[in-house]
Amino acid sequence: MKKLIAITSLIAFVAAAFLIQQSASSQNSVWKAKPKRADAVRALVVTGGHDHDSEFYSVFDDDGINAVVDPHPAVFGGDIRKRADVLVLYDMMKTLDEKRRKNLQAFVESGKGVVVLHHAIGNNVDWPWWYEEVVGGRWLFEPVNGKVGSYKHDVDLTIKPAMQHPILKGITTFGIHDETYKDLWISPKVKVLLTTDDKTSDGPVAWISPYEKSRVVYIQLGHDRNANLNPNYQRLVRNAIQWAAGKLN
Ligand SMILES: [Zn+2]
Repeated sequence: MKKLIAITSLIAFVAAAFLIQQSASSQNSVWKAKPKRADAVRALVVTGGHDHDSEFYSVFDDDGINAVVDPHPAVFGGDIRKRADVLVLYDMMKTLDEKRRKNLQAFVESGKGVVVLHHAIGNNVDWPWWYEEVVGGRWLFEPVNGKVGSYKHDVDLTIKPAMQHPILKGITTFGIHDETYKDLWISPKVKVLLTTDDKTSDGPVAWISPYEKSRVVYIQLGHDRNANLNPNYQRLVRNAIQWAAGKLN
């Protein structure tokens, strides 16, 4: 949860990919995204409002995921239901205007999936429907009942499965170097997928929300390249996207 830095991630990503291709072509090692399967999940990845490493995009380099990156708030300016099967939020925006809220709500209520990553827990903190029903948690920017959100960078964590679930397919206890969050508001109705015992963190670090019209997952992990290049983290996010799309049961 660093300072807000507005960046146009899509442009940066396209430019970075172009530059990598240009510079690598002379070395006969051109970077290319993996070819996508015909049934790949269409993921709409939303960035903005928070800086992030370019390694973030490697999480979606999977033949079962066809990702398009589109920053907020413009992404919510129109109907997004036809553009994607799953919305992946890696942005941070405390509030959204009424028109954009309607487009986001229409997507969620249509039964399509949502995967909320890391600092996107700071989204829509003035919209109870969003954080109570859809996500099942929120960042506390100001104290509520004596609690306020805190974070710590560069923690070596042990992450443990808390239940059996398709999202945890192939995932056992694993280590990760990441940022921790403490004192989030977490709905008592969530189903906790993963936990940690680290004292700088809340116990739950991934959960299924109580929302019933669509599949919604929150994953607290994912601050920087240390997480984004971690094979267990990549698998977790990819599984979450497949599950949210209704393709992993
Ligand atoms: Zn972070």
